[in-house]
Amino acid sequence: MSQVSASKKLDVKSLYNALNAELDKARDSKTFKVEVPVESIQAGVVQAAGRSQVMLASNNYLGLANHPRIREAARKGLEKHGYGLASVRFLCGTQKIHLELEERIARFLGTEAAILHSSCFAANEAFFAALVGTDFSGSGDYRDVIYSDQFNHASIIDGIRLARIAVKTTDVRAYKHNDMAQLKGWLEEDKAKDYRLSVIATDGVFSMEGEHADLADFVKTARANDALLFVDESHATGVLGETGRGTPELCGVHGRMDVISGTLGKALGGANGGFIAGKKVLVDYLRQKSRPYTFSNSLPPMVVCAAIEAINMLEEDNSLVTKLHQNTDYFRKEIKRLGFTILEGVHPIVPVMVGEASTAMDMSSHLLDEGVYVRGLWYPVVPKGEARLRVQISADHTVQDLDKALAAFAKVGRHLGVI
Ligand SMILES: *Cc1c(COP(=O)(O)O)cnc(C)c1O
Repeated sequence: MSQVSASKKLDVKSLYNALNAELDKARDSKTFKVEVPVESIQAGVVQAAGRSQVMLASNNYLGLANHPRIREAARKGLEKHGYGLASVRFLCGTQKIHLELEERIARFLGTEAAILHSSCFAANEAFFAALVGTDFSGSGDYRDVIYSDQFNHASIIDGIRLARIAVKTTDVRAYKHNDMAQLKGWLEEDKAKDYRLSVIATDGVFSMEGEHADLADFVKTARANDALLFVDESHATGVLGETGRGTPELCGVHGRMDVISGTLGKALGGANGGFIAGKKVLVDYLRQKSRPYTFSNSLPPMVVCAAIEAINMLEEDNSLVTKLHQNTDYFRKEIKRLGFTILEGVHPIVPVMVGEASTAMDMSSHLLDEGVYVRGLWYPVVPKGEARLRVQISADHTVQDLDKALAAFAKVGRHLGVI
């Protein structure tokens, strides 16, 4: 044990004082996160702050979070398969429905196989930790590299931290957001380094921007450099593409990703759960080596059955996806017509740019008074001076809901001098 000098030791009382100081610092810098409880079920319109609110802050893209068919599937799942398995998958936590959902996810996304995890966060950690930097041959003589978009989700960043970076068998290069030129330049430059495994990791859709990665170019680039392409489709599955198969469908490269991770907690029902989809051998390997899979409980039957029903609905017809796209187009067009600046794109995440953090804060609290629930994002979550309200559109919204939200944006925007 190393000696800790008396002056540096944090006794438990001082620890709590330090935590208080940290919280005060967050409050002073206005980065303190406040939770406004939703007083109803999740939907296009909710009860919150004592009144009816158009919900523009949820990932309930298809409105499945409380869709009658999803609730019914969950209820049946509970009745038929029970509440919980009280086990991890490999002991006694696997029912046929778990295997069925894995097959359905794989088929929907155009991969050979899929493996469930308790969340996409866990799935991303599992993937990088189990695969990258691992001494497969036992020779110890190798070095892997991960190329990662700077704006990738926290779970990818943490997953990469769990790859064998500490033992120096993995290098990480974070390229500028969606900067294909920089990525290609680095891949070229790194040819001389004789890396063993190269992995390119990107979000399909970036949650702060609502932008997507140009996956056609990623596929070409990954193939040309013999790199493994990993895409996190959490905000895209059920959302982008004509049939909701995500960013690959939108970019014309469905079925050509090496690895897709995703969540059941957004468009596909909105409860929780995540997955990795890809080659069967990779999924088989993760079933043996993923620590979050091996040492954490299997998904409850309700969630599994509801997710299967979500995929049923997407495969039957694309009416919900079409409605989502129509709502998104409408809101994007109308909010611009009011004079607001947005980040252009096609995704139901519509960042309405307001500049300063204080403006975003004022605007979201005024909007709450007007019956519109929307959250602001500011530094350090997004760059300084690029504070925004992140609007998220749902298939559960009616045109009347969107018109009400737009009228409130106009009123509050004028009042605060944003437009
Ligand atoms: C939401 C999200 C996650 C986390 O998903 P969970 O299933 O809630 O853990 C991971 N990656 C991205 C890109 C996300 O948007």
